[in-house]
Amino acid sequence: MSPRCLVRGSLNIDEFFHVQGIVRPGQTISSTGFERRGGGKGANQAAAVARAGEPVSIVGAVGDDGAWLLRDLKEMGVSVDGVCTVSVRMPRLALCGALSVCVTVIYALRTQEPTGRAIIQLTPAGENCIILHKGANYALQDTPAQIEQSLLGMSHLLLQNEIPWQTTVAYLTHAHDRGLVTVFNPSPMPSDDEIRSTYAPRIGDIGKAGPKRAAAVHEHRVTLGAAGVVALTVGALMPVYLLAAELQGDVRDTTGAGDCFTGYLVAGLMQVDPSEVLTTREATTLLRRSVQAAGMCVEKRGATESMPKRVDVEARLS
Ligand code: ADP
Repeated sequence: MSPRCLVRGSLNIDEFFHVQGIVRPGQTISSTGFERRGGGKGANQAAAVARAGEPVSIVGAVGDDGAWLLRDLKEMGVSVDGVCTVSVRMPRLALCGALSVCVTVIYALRTQEPTGRAIIQLTPAGENCIILHKGANYALQDTPAQIEQSLLGMSHLLLQNEIPWQTTVAYLTHAHDRGLVTVFNPSPMPSDDEIRSTYAPRIGDIGKAGPKRAAAVHEHRVTLGAAGVVALTVGALMPVYLLAAELQGDVRDTTGAGDCFTGYLVAGLMQVDPSEVLTTREATTLLRRSVQAAGMCVEKRGATESMPKRVDVEARLS
């Protein structure tokens, strides 16, 4: 089967407010600029896999305001057929005049789910601070039949945890049963209660999965911002430590750097035989490419759109 990755994750509209410094409690500041761009960890990682040159699809949800996000992702090569638009369903009212308008507005306020939002303060040094609104990312309840349908033809699954926890667990379970290579980049981390209540009993199952075990078990990595990345590969006595890439110019925006790293890592895993354990040398090559891509991502503003193309990453590495 040729490799194809499914991302079940979030799609957000990122609203960037350019500020001299991150706002403090009780303080009101003015922004020096404003931009609206595509984001959400699911969309960012799907874009990174596509820009790294591997086939990828995303399943998720946006509101009526998110059509342009889907257009942008499609242009980058991500299949968005599995993304639902959660529309406001207006009641057909027999009422007329001012009362009708009033009832309609109240109904809309109660039911509308906009596309997920990230309100991002960004300083000239590239430091950021983010508030997330879940919005439509929490509107879907995937049934077992829908999950099975989404996983058809997929060799890899990539999850982040910006969607309902029970959905993440359901995808992990189905992917495990189908023998997919699964990469789980939990951010935010699930709460202790969530882990205890649903995930813990299944960890033993994943351990027993045989050669096609989750890539997360193959390889543990921690990104360290400007300090680079440290990874522990199966069978290696020492962790691999890689410095961050040397930048051409200044850091402009670190949003999405971790997603770029993860997307490139998964794209690299899609090119290797999942039944083989990576050698340290192979893992290092793959990590170096991912670190280089992440470094190029921070040189550009935005998240989804700042994922570099594979050809440009390779050019910097050579
Ligand atoms: P996250 O976005 O998940 O918090 P990090 O901030 O750790 O992720 O960044 C992920 C990777 O991006 C790092 O391991 C590094 O390779 C790269 N990176 C992040 N910040 C910088 C920087 N200032 N200069 C160069 N590379 C960076």
